[in-house]
Formats: sequence, C-alpha cells, structure tokens
Amino acid sequence: MRLNKSNSLLLVVLVFLSVALLGCREKASKETAGSELYNIFPKGELGPAGNFTGKAWNMGLVPNDSTYTTLVGNVYFEPGARSNWHTHPAGQILIITDGVGFHQIKGQPKQLLHKGDVVQCPPGAEHWHGASPDTGLQQLYIVPNTEKGIVQWLQPVTDEEYKSK
Ligand code: MN
Repeated sequence: MRLNKSNSLLLVVLVFLSVALLGCREKASKETAGSELYNIFPKGELGPAGNFTGKAWNMGLVPNDSTYTTLVGNVYFEPGARSNWHTHPAGQILIITDGVGFHQIKGQPKQLLHKGDVVQCPPGAEHWHGASPDTGLQQLYIVPNTEKGIVQWLQPVTDEEYKSK
C-alpha cells in the first residue's frame, strides 16, 4: 500500500488511539490497586467495630445449618483493616482471591498473603487476619464442624503487633 495523504492520516490516528488505549489500561490497573480490588461476591455488611480494626465487609455465602455444619463467606478488608485476635474451635480455611494481606498465629511470624494462597488455621489457634496497609484483601473463609463452635473473639491487634514481623 502506497502512503497517500489519507492513508498517512489514518496511520497517525491509529497510532494515537493505540497509545491512548495503552495509557488508559495502565491507569485503570493502578487505580484498582489498593481500592476495592476484584470482587466476585457482593461487598455485604460492615463487620462490628468491636471485632475489627478498620473496615471489614462480610458477605455470608453458606449459612450454618445442621446439614452442612459449615459456614462459608467472603470478607473484604479495606487497606489497614484486620480482625481482632480470635480462635475457631474447629479451625478455619482461608482462600485469598485478591489483594495483599496477613495471617498470624500467636507466637509465630506474620504470613504474607496474596491472591491464590490457601491458609489452614488450626483448631483453637489464636490468630488474626487482615489487609496490608496499602492494599486491601479479598478472602473466602470456610469454618467446618460448626457444631464445635464458630469463633471466640479476643483483644484487638494493636498497631505495634500489626506492624511487627
Ligand atoms: Mn479466623
């Protein structure tokens, strides 16, 4: 194809559009980081301030009943938000679907969590989970054998504990 005047103009427009589109994509992904993240489920209800520091949104997915004796839900922790220390009498499984966060068992180092991580919290182990300071965390939780109990809430995770390694 010979480049005549209108072809050249078309080429210029196409190059301009490509650059503009690439720019938009980069901007969009930067805006996603640290905000709502990718949400599979509705945000749900704000968790009670007595059990959480910052904002943690809970969406129940499978209610506890005598057939399944398993509780399943999704929590979105906003950046900096975390649970209080707590225990699950029959343990808990966490599946991270987006963002960055932490899980810590009392007396052990903080575990860094990313999308795709699966955490098994042992029965009765005092622990907390939540988002990183700059990026939120989307996590599914599964509480099995709910006939043994679901959760026992303890004291808040202090800023010092949250920042320590
Ligand atoms: Mn837990």
